[in-house]
Amino acid sequence: MNFTLNEDQLAFQEVARKFAREEIAPTVAADDHASRFRRDLVKKMAELGFYGCVIPEEYGGSGAGYLAVTVVTEEIARVSAALRVSFSTQVMGPGLTILKWGNEEQKTKYIPALCDADMLGAFAMTEPNAGSDVGSMKATAVRHGDEYILNGTKTWISNAQFCDLALVFAYTDPTQRPRGMSCFIVESQSPGFSSRPLEDKLGLHGSPTGEIILEDCRIPAGALLGREGEGFKICMSMLENTRLSCAAGGLGLARACLDAAVAYANDRQQFGQPVAKFQMVQEQIARMVVEEEAARLLVYRAAVMKDMGLPNNRETSIAKYAAAQAANHAADEAVKILGAYGYSEEYPVARYYRDAKYYQIVEGTSNIQKWIIGQDALGIRKANR
Ligand SMILES: Cc1cc2nc3c(=O)[nH]c(=O)nc-3n(C[C@H](O)[C@H](O)[C@H](O)COP(=O)(O)OP(=O)(O)OC[C@H]3O[C@@H](n4cnc5c(N)ncnc54)[C@H](O)[C@@H]3O)c2cc1C
Repeated sequence: MNFTLNEDQLAFQEVARKFAREEIAPTVAADDHASRFRRDLVKKMAELGFYGCVIPEEYGGSGAGYLAVTVVTEEIARVSAALRVSFSTQVMGPGLTILKWGNEEQKTKYIPALCDADMLGAFAMTEPNAGSDVGSMKATAVRHGDEYILNGTKTWISNAQFCDLALVFAYTDPTQRPRGMSCFIVESQSPGFSSRPLEDKLGLHGSPTGEIILEDCRIPAGALLGREGEGFKICMSMLENTRLSCAAGGLGLARACLDAAVAYANDRQQFGQPVAKFQMVQEQIARMVVEEEAARLLVYRAAVMKDMGLPNNRETSIAKYAAAQAANHAADEAVKILGAYGYSEEYPVARYYRDAKYYQIVEGTSNIQKWIIGQDALGIRKANR
């Protein structure tokens, strides 16, 4: 398997790196501090074709592929974990899921708008009592003539309060779990759709999170994605893509921690020399390097397998788990290397430390990834069926 980036991928990487440095970095700390969602930057990223990388030309993308979107995501996440989320909420979640399961009308209406960020997307599985156990959700959708009527509360939804559309998962037949689950493209203007922000998160302050409340929410019957009862399958196929995006995000964060720790260790003088001269600091840096590079190979492997159309459920879980671990360990070490300054908001590593936890929670916690990987290794349930 070849991980050498081609010309297109290198060009995307370079543009993303420059954009992150020039357009995101100058205000990222202030945006985080003010919990400010930079919709303007999401729009600019769309204009640069970042989201469209993974979408075919006929639906407004460039078809550059999964490895291309992965290297772009990594560069953005290296500067802002919050803006990385937009890759999942625009294309890796709703965009690719509508591409795979949608009819022509749905694809034409929504995918180009998600690529261009003319519409902001979201996806909503999680409920107050249904996290890892997605199948235990309570939301329902009942067909009435030409409409479905949705009821339920979704929580911890990225973009809840800003989205124009959300992929909402709900039971059309609650007696069949999880086979009675269905998926709907719900526009936020629909009657009965409302949202409420969730504030005071540990990190990712620049990424809005909230609740979506569906109270007799009426949507046209044509908003059903795929067929009734296919919701759980749709959800799992979507997670396979959003997981790769999270993995690329963790990788970017691990790299940011390494950059900050190396710069500081070379600069900070103690005992008459830079702390970089101490072997224990070198050991900390060495482990960060190894874990980050190992995670990169795993993340790129998953992306290349997607580009090749190979089954990749297992490899994507491995990549996501490894990148989340690398990010968290790197953030932990970076704070230690910066000492008291690592504990201060004066340097970015405190933000990295807060943001890193996210990668161990979303799109399947680290335990869920280990569950998938372990069951596969033990022959209990093969991930790539
Ligand atoms: C910032 C943020 C943004 C989010 N955005 C979205 C979004 O856009 N859309 C959306 O639908 N959701 C979103 N989520 C929710 C996220 O997907 C869930 O938090 C995640 O699925 C875990 O669910 P939970 O938090 O309810 O934990 P739980 O499932 O309650 O898990 C609690 C603990 O038990 C462990 N556990 C659970 N089951 C098992 C098992 N079978 N084996 C071993 N251990 C297990 C978990 O690993 C965890 O440590 C977001 C969350 C955050 C924090």
